[in-house]
Amino acid sequence: DWLADAGIQAVLAMLAEGGHQALLVGGCVRNALLGLPVSDIDISTDARPERVMELATAAGVRPVPTGIEHGTVTVVVNHEPHEITTFRRDVETFGRHAIVAFADRIEDDAARRDFTVNALYADAWGRVIDPLGGGLSDLAARRIRFVGLPEDRIREDYLRILRFFRFTAHYADPTHGPDPEGLAACAMLAGGIATLSRERVGAEMRKLLAAVDPAPAVAAMQITGVLAHVLPGAEASALAPLIHLEAGRAPDALRRLAVLGGQDVAERLRLSRAEDRRLETLHDCARGGEGPGVLGYRIGAQAALDAGLIRAALIGTPMPEGWAEAALRGAAARFPVTARDLMPGLSGAELGARLKDLEARWIASDFALTRDDLLA
Ligand code: ATP
Ligand code: MG
Repeated sequence: DWLADAGIQAVLAMLAEGGHQALLVGGCVRNALLGLPVSDIDISTDARPERVMELATAAGVRPVPTGIEHGTVTVVVNHEPHEITTFRRDVETFGRHAIVAFADRIEDDAARRDFTVNALYADAWGRVIDPLGGGLSDLAARRIRFVGLPEDRIREDYLRILRFFRFTAHYADPTHGPDPEGLAACAMLAGGIATLSRERVGAEMRKLLAAVDPAPAVAAMQITGVLAHVLPGAEASALAPLIHLEAGRAPDALRRLAVLGGQDVAERLRLSRAEDRRLETLHDCARGGEGPGVLGYRIGAQAALDAGLIRAALIGTPMPEGWAEAALRGAAARFPVTARDLMPGLSGAELGARLKDLEARWIASDFALTRDDLLA
């Protein structure tokens, strides 16, 4: 359906009419073949970026050189941005990083991509091209395999270690586990993760943890020593029970992070202030002893429910009966006493202490004590 989109067809036609190859590539092709939703659409072409700019301008659409050094031009059609990237190839490996140059051949462009299932292309009619010859069969078998030798590919870009686990978590056949050769290379080169920017690591980890079931992939990360390089102190074993307890709730990377624990998570994954606060609340409340009512009152029903799930996963028990209901009651409860209800003549400090004490009794009564009870 998305391939029929007028904007995409217009962009592909614009390139084709200019005498160029115009193909969809990467995640959109992979996901379409798997029958999964498509997030962003990448278009690849043998046209050089200046030529793409020229064709777009001639067609009356606005080209924006969003990443011209990587060969990417964004064209806005029907108010939708479309990223067009020129074919590239790895010309040499300089030090550790591959130097890329523009390429004319789709085979070269495919060869510099990370995994065979990410090196699939499709034309405007949805005909699929598999330049490497292994992408379609790997996709059918749900195998995430590196393009070329895993070790070499990882040395070019250590982010590929995390991408290996991310794509394995989302798309691999869980009964087979990660590709053994890829896994061995990740284990051997895990130390290279230290060279990556925290933004890139954070973005990959978020996507990994947003998979329906990231537990087997995260367990593999721990076994291979990768997890310790990403999140020192994190412990994967409670993740599988958490996924089970979540029972199909929408995937939530922070809830999963809270069960993993680890040191300096917010800093290492470059979480926002709001995410950091939420993670800390979930982490601490799950590991504290407060019941669902108090938690609901203090942090809201949703967070109290999350904390309950995380606690049950860490302990290895089912979710306690009535937890969600009690959390909801706590979240709805309003403390019925105000400073004005208390005796005049008390100092500010005394007043505060008295109110706090009453509130504690009220919470301990499971919010049953009324205003009159409390004042009496
Ligand atoms: P998603 O659905 O998450 O967007 P995606 O496959 O589109 O998945 P992106 O990170 O958007 O993933 O990258 C787009 C494509 O670019 C990939 O499919 C892959 O072919 C290529 N690619 C991206 N990052 C790398 C990398 N670090 N090394 C090699 N190829 C990469
Ligand atoms: Mg993408």
